[in-house]
Amino acid sequence: ADLIDQIAAGEVIERPASVLKELLENAIDAGARQVDVEAGGGGIRLLRIRDDGHGIPPEQIPLAMAPHATSKITSLDELERVATLGFRGEALPSIASVSRLSIRSSTDGDGGWEATGPYRAGQQAAPCAHPRGTTVEMRDLFHNVPARRKFLRTEQTEFRHIDRMLRRTALSRFETGFRLSHDGRVVRDYPAATTDARRASRIADVVGKGFVEQTIEVDTSRAGLRLWGWLGQPSIARSQADWQYMFVNGRAIRDKVVTHAIKQGFGDVLHHARQPAYVLFLEMDPAGVDVNAHPAKHEVRFRDQGKIHGFLSHVVSQALAGAAP
Ligand code: ADP
Ligand code: MG
Repeated sequence: ADLIDQIAAGEVIERPASVLKELLENAIDAGARQVDVEAGGGGIRLLRIRDDGHGIPPEQIPLAMAPHATSKITSLDELERVATLGFRGEALPSIASVSRLSIRSSTDGDGGWEATGPYRAGQQAAPCAHPRGTTVEMRDLFHNVPARRKFLRTEQTEFRHIDRMLRRTALSRFETGFRLSHDGRVVRDYPAATTDARRASRIADVVGKGFVEQTIEVDTSRAGLRLWGWLGQPSIARSQADWQYMFVNGRAIRDKVVTHAIKQGFGDVLHHARQPAYVLFLEMDPAGVDVNAHPAKHEVRFRDQGKIHGFLSHVVSQALAGAAP
């Protein structure tokens, strides 16, 4: 099963930033108010994520790293099926199969418990000191999968991916504080942003000052869909698509339908070679969208693409028309 786990892990875990994505999602799911990330050596040697969320009960700490579906895979056919469905409940086991993983946690702040992966049958957590919340520590990514390790880039490049992942996530959760350090140096520090002014300052930090100063606010709901956030004025459109942040139900996504719809909403005011700037949040019935279509790639699948496309381009063009001088 070891090999199968590793092959399966490869689908989700491509690089340190993919590990970070999964661990950040877990911290947010746990209701964290503050998340601290420490990276060492581009996140290849070390990634340590500490949150102040609800923690994991001691008996569940080793189990969180135990493979579920993957241990049942007996054919390539099944592996393929799992790969396309996504890996719900498989992130920690996958990470544990390709790195040295340990988890320390406390549900009440009254002493903590720790366990080191990979999961062994009957494994129990050992007592340790830990405040309420969870620290997940990953070391030596792909130490046992040289073929994958070979595909990692320089520490600098891997860290850039980590930084991008953290910033994207920070935009999706204004009410949570995020801090990122690399090789002992604090690189990002975004305090929890609960007021409009603090939110604006987080957007300025993450996207850029030139963005927040020239935006049009959007907030429109129709037929079970809500789109809110900020559109950059056409005048700040970029030659690259680097000021485009889109979230569906709080998860960062990239999707051709969405990109196309927004660009169409901008219409003629945008020179065809220019990319619109935006930070937008789409909220909708979760049944209408699969945000885990490909867990590593931010892909989504909308049940009714036409409806989403129409809504987005309509809201964007209305907002721009309303803001026109
Ligand atoms: P999933 O998030 O899809 O359930 P994971 O492998 O990412 O699967 O995590 C397994 C389980 O471990 C989670 O469902 C959760 O119960 C627990 N867990 C993981 N990380 C944390 C955390 N930071 N805080 C609290 N619980 C966590
Ligand atoms: Mg998870």
